Amino acid sequence: MHKNFKNIDKTVFGRGSFDQMDAILAEKRQENDQFILFIVDQYFKGKPLEKRIPLKKGDVILFIDVDIHEPTTEQIDHIRDSVKASHGIPAGIVGIGGGSIMDIAKASSLMFTNEGSSTLYQGLNLIKKPGVYHLGVPTISGTGAECSMTAVLTGPVKKLGLKCDWTVFNQLILDPDLIATVPRNWWFYTGMDTFIHCIESENGTLNNTYSHAYAEQALKLCREVFVNEGSGQTSANDEKLMVASLMGGLSLTYSEVGVCHALSYGLSKILGTRHCYANCVAFDHLEDYYPQGVKEFRTMVQKHQIDLPKNLSKEWTDDQITAMAEVAYNLTHMWVHAIGADWKNKITIDLIKGLYRRM
Ligand code: NAD
Ligand code: ZN
Repeated sequence: MHKNFKNIDKTVFGRGSFDQMDAILAEKRQENDQFILFIVDQYFKGKPLEKRIPLKKGDVILFIDVDIHEPTTEQIDHIRDSVKASHGIPAGIVGIGGGSIMDIAKASSLMFTNEGSSTLYQGLNLIKKPGVYHLGVPTISGTGAECSMTAVLTGPVKKLGLKCDWTVFNQLILDPDLIATVPRNWWFYTGMDTFIHCIESENGTLNNTYSHAYAEQALKLCREVFVNEGSGQTSANDEKLMVASLMGGLSLTYSEVGVCHALSYGLSKILGTRHCYANCVAFDHLEDYYPQGVKEFRTMVQKHQIDLPKNLSKEWTDDQITAMAEVAYNLTHMWVHAIGADWKNKITIDLIKGLYRRM
């Protein structure tokens, strides 16, 4: 069976496109209880962008500090319950921020129409009904959360996405001006998520002409942003990175991630390390699997003078390393893609523990 892939319904791209939001929302405002719920990264509170949000009477705006923790099921349930009690069901939800806000907006959209706690729906196709209209405005580029069919949530038992066709945004507004203020280290770590998505998507059994076409273009853009002459955090490169993020995400949707993401999930799950940074920590030690990609990655780290910590594993207990290795080992679909159907002959918990010890 081939994947039957649901793409974003509509996309606007270009500088200043943020200001088209008002017109885009106008035709949606009559739905449900006729208000828009804006979910915005706390970073933008008091910044000029806040004044450009097309807030109308009756709309609700929530500012969220994404640095406290990654999105949780409890947080989503609370947003749904409190907004429902005070205002009802929104006509639409707008998420303005990075991968964390994208996931909160996507998950909230689904939870306004599906009863009970979001913990009930962590997994593939468990959602019963379409969510409310949702529009994503990414303000940091790399995760591909703007186009993925999952909204990753940490729950009491598992860290797993609400994954289905209805998770995908109805509308994206890609305005490269919005990512100009991203701090340099986040620009790099989150940007590298795209680079790694492409390397992993390309190097595995599920790679195909469709995923390859996206990855090839996204890698070309990543090299312009991070490797070639003229690289760096410039306005021209912001446009390229924004498109690379989208294309890297589309590539992996139609292929799969691999060894780095398996190890990175272990780091996030057991130590709470944030996704993009965890990927950089892990990828630096995967030359056995992605020799060319790792070589290029190291060049980029050097070129942009990014601090990647060494000897992190010295601080980890054997129990922690074992727990991380178990999380990674259980991501079967990633190993099948990266290593092949017979991956269990080649990959063992001990081997994975060895990879963590290199970090
Ligand atoms: P983020 O949303 O966690 O934000 C990172 C930091 O950048 C925060 O401090 C934020 O306030 C700041 N920031 C964002 N935009 C800014 C701007 N324009 N100017 C200044 N600061 C800005 O970043 P992320 O790396 O995009 O997202 C990570 C999250 O995405 C994780 O929760 C991860 O689980 C999730 N994720 C989801 C998917 C998916 O497919 N759904 C894929 C990968 C990662
Ligand atoms: Zn990723």
